[in-house]
Amino acid sequence: MAEDRTETGSEKSLWRAAARTHLGLRRESNQDRFLIAERGEDHLLVAVADGMGGVAGGEVASRLGLEVFEANLAEGGIRRERLREAVLAADNAITGESVVRADLAGMGTTLVALEARADGMLSWLNVGDSRIYRAQGESLEQISSDHSLVADLVRARQITPEEAETHPRRNVLTMALGADKTLDPETGDLETVPGDRFLLCSDGLHGMIPDRDIARILTADWDINARCDSLVEAALDAGGTDNVTVLILERHPSRRAAVLSGGDGAAGNASTIWLSIPLALILLLLILRLLSSDGGFGYVPVDPAPSDTTHIELDLPIVGDQLLDSNTQLTPGDIVRDPLWSDSLSQDSSEMMNNDDVNRRRRP
Ligand code: CA
Repeated sequence: MAEDRTETGSEKSLWRAAARTHLGLRRESNQDRFLIAERGEDHLLVAVADGMGGVAGGEVASRLGLEVFEANLAEGGIRRERLREAVLAADNAITGESVVRADLAGMGTTLVALEARADGMLSWLNVGDSRIYRAQGESLEQISSDHSLVADLVRARQITPEEAETHPRRNVLTMALGADKTLDPETGDLETVPGDRFLLCSDGLHGMIPDRDIARILTADWDINARCDSLVEAALDAGGTDNVTVLILERHPSRRAAVLSGGDGAAGNASTIWLSIPLALILLLLILRLLSSDGGFGYVPVDPAPSDTTHIELDLPIVGDQLLDSNTQLTPGDIVRDPLWSDSLSQDSSEMMNNDDVNRRRRP
């Protein structure tokens, strides 16, 4: 069974990552792809892409998407803005390739990415329905929001999360790279603490096993590789109807302790105290000036801090009970991925349905 694996990071580095991608038990090709790229000391870029749009197109889209994304991730600048610019370049590259090659028409890919830095901060990005989770202690939180029809319906309280799991249109994405739609990636910045674990995965994992099983394995006290293997095995045990890709990134739990126990700590504290005295005096003067002045200190409006998450607007043209009808016609711009629920469909017929949907979308 085809399986790719990789790992980077050491006991001394701040970040450690490992990943697996597996064909699954029903598919003939693996259209998932992952990326782990070291970018300087204690600086890692990790990503997962899940391609779609026919056998050839899906593989090309996820590979091209990750390559162009990494190549366009410039140094410096506002970090999440850099992720956004790089993913827009990847989107353009996929769209351009699908225009010049007829056999790739309609291809697209999801993309989730994390950039982990030496200061312990993270920036992340999401397009599509691959996911980013964070585990702290025993708790699991989904950081990214799915860009899918059913996720929008859940957010709009038109269906329940339970109904979403079996909804006939749960393979419709509202955003993907190469999808002829204006791309508005979801991005965010996060502070991390030692011991934080992040999981990037394709829907071949989160569509197959419940979050509680993901949490149990991700937070287990096992080696990072054993946790990756166990996640893939759980998806295969649950049926393995899709390609499975898992990537764990974790902040090393012991480095903080090592730094705190080092001899530099006391000296650092002493100099911090000496530095803080003049700062406190300046602050006190500023407060006194503010209290005594009547308007001398004009109020300077400050932009509210950007939220960690940029959510897309609900812009689906179809609403209401229609959505519960499995015969609902797709609208231009909807993106259909390979269905997960292939139990009731042969692989051939599901591919035909996809191509038909894609062709319908492409028709002017
Ligand atoms: Ca998939």
